[in-house]
Amino acid sequence: MKYLVCIKQVPKITKVKLDPITHNLIREGTATTINPADLNALTFALKLREKTGGEITVMTMGPDSAAESIRKCYAMGADKGYVVSSRAFAGADTLATSYTLAQGAKSIGNFDIVFTGNQTIDGDTGQVGPELAENLSINQVTYVEDIEFENGSFKVKRQNSEGEEIVEVKAPILFSVVRNANIVKIPTKSEIEAESESFVNIIGVEDLDIDENRIGIKGSPTVVDSIFDGEKFEVGARIEGDSKKQADGIVDILLEKGFIGR
Ligand SMILES: Cc1cc2nc3c(=O)[nH]c(=O)nc-3n(C[C@H](O)[C@H](O)[C@H](O)COP(=O)(O)OP(=O)(O)OC[C@H]3O[C@@H](n4cnc5c(N)ncnc54)[C@H](O)[C@@H]3O)c2cc1C
Repeated sequence: MKYLVCIKQVPKITKVKLDPITHNLIREGTATTINPADLNALTFALKLREKTGGEITVMTMGPDSAAESIRKCYAMGADKGYVVSSRAFAGADTLATSYTLAQGAKSIGNFDIVFTGNQTIDGDTGQVGPELAENLSINQVTYVEDIEFENGSFKVKRQNSEGEEIVEVKAPILFSVVRNANIVKIPTKSEIEAESESFVNIIGVEDLDIDENRIGIKGSPTVVDSIFDGEKFEVGARIEGDSKKQADGIVDILLEKGFIGR
């Protein structure tokens, strides 16, 4: 089977700032990481590859420097990686992002299974996976919590509004995976270092069969009208010391607030 895992490089969330004029995220100079749910998606691909055989390709749309994240995926076990990168893609909303990713995927080959995270920790719209499936004209299962491969089909546990359900699907299919769906084996420093020179393919706008009106700012109908700081809540007390002192501290607070009695 041929697997494609879409990963997004996101700012480490505590460091995000918004530009008050353009209403865009200020990404320059912020430390980045791979969106957590995307690592859960890659983990499922690695597990399924053990059973079905095949190849895992990872792809991201972002700056050339996103190659660093692709190499982290190599350290986890991915086979090939692509960065879809061009100034022409800058300012993309989810519609333009998913179209660009779809054209990127089509330029690489045909995939049986496409993985995305269910949502990111920065944009957080949860739209890219479903839109990508639509652009690739394949079926999709969202909110995926677990996947097993049996007798040529995939048995998938997914969240729904009532709890959970099991669906059985066949390839080609897109799965969007919820954060913490499985345990991610984070590569060690030496595993990451071993991939530091590994080759990452860079795809530019000129490499794609693309409608220039559907990419970047031109292809993005979303307008951020206004931004505001979220309400700030007073943080709870920090209790220092060993576990006994911490436990006693919690009991004192609960007693003081009348949640428990002596
Ligand atoms: C207020 C606001 C301001 C923004 N400002 C900027 C900005 O200044 N500059 C800018 O570049 N973007 C900006 N964006 C973000 C841009 O719209 C999103 O990065 C992009 O469209 C993806 O949307 P999302 O993060 O909601 O993805 P979701 O739909 O939540 O992502 C679901 C999954 O899709 C996949 N995916 C998403 N994006 C990518 C990607 N790029 N490559 C590979 N896989 C991907 C991942 O697997 C991810 O887990 C902004 C978004 C908002 C809401």
